[in-house]
Amino acid sequence: MSRKRVLITGAAGFLGSHLCDRFIKEGFDVVGMDNLITGDLKNIEHLFRLKEFEFYHHDVSKFVYVPGQIDYILHFASPASPIDYLKIPIQTLKVGSLGIHNLLGFARVKNARILIASTSEVYGDPTVHPQTEDYWGNVNPIGPRGVYDEAKRFQEAITMAYHTYHHLETRIVRIFNTYGPRMRLNDGRVLPAFIGQALRGEDLTVFGDGSQTRSFCYVDDLIEGIYRLLFSDYAYPVNIGNPQEITIREFGEEIIKLTGTNQKLITHPLPQDDPKQRRPDISKAIEILGWQPKISRAEGLKYTYDYFRSLPPEELNKTAHRFA
Ligand code: UDP
Repeated sequence: MSRKRVLITGAAGFLGSHLCDRFIKEGFDVVGMDNLITGDLKNIEHLFRLKEFEFYHHDVSKFVYVPGQIDYILHFASPASPIDYLKIPIQTLKVGSLGIHNLLGFARVKNARILIASTSEVYGDPTVHPQTEDYWGNVNPIGPRGVYDEAKRFQEAITMAYHTYHHLETRIVRIFNTYGPRMRLNDGRVLPAFIGQALRGEDLTVFGDGSQTRSFCYVDDLIEGIYRLLFSDYAYPVNIGNPQEITIREFGEEIIKLTGTNQKLITHPLPQDDPKQRRPDISKAIEILGWQPKISRAEGLKYTYDYFRSLPPEELNKTAHRFA
């Protein structure tokens, strides 16, 4: 059987780069694509010497073409943290609308199966808890998160339309908070923010009273879920995440313990439309994919801390703050 070839957009990003590694490991030829606005070539530097890997420096919001066979497409290009989409709202909207339209057209030309990265943000500030796939969400379209949330909701809608009207093979993963090595230290998300602060000897900034909850999934577990979903025959959205829920204040305390820092938790104002609670219902993933997370938060946080600790000090000092 001939080798299969997969296009991964957002290849230089946190999740994209882990997907590249996984597909290379599984014996695929991988074409990575990224415009490098939020991605970093350091994440995939180790792949450039492999003949199985190619890289296109390209913005998927513009016409997409790659010569030759493409069997699968994974669309992971998008800014994905509140600080990023506050800084680059228009690009965030474009990659989730123009970008996906280009890729769906490209998938048709290549007769490829396409999996798109959606998000728990489609549920907005949820009034149903935990979130099941059939919950429609509570999103403010014109708030600061609207550019991301609505782009991702549009992305799901157009993907389903291509599935229904063009019979394209499509898959939709709704990704909940995920962490691990290669997260950007300055992306403003809570985990790199807290670990960066602890490593620099700064106090940890809890937004609001810290009673809001999140459920954090280690990246290897997430990649396994995505891999299984791609090769399943299920075209509707599937939540992938770790249902272990924790308040942000408790999370800060865990990071203080993990890093052994003498710093304390300090409070900052809660950003607008910050979801009060988030936890995936993963019954569907268990039933359809036989998947559930295996890596505990204690274990995953240790691997992640080891990664951040190994970064050169100048990386650590570059960190931007949301509230700076
Ligand atoms: N947060 C915080 N301090 C920080 C960064 C984030 O308390 O320095 C909070 C944020 O307000 C939110 C939670 O941590 O309630 C998770 O934020 P993140 O940006 O990581 O992702 P979100 O799940 O909100 O998209």
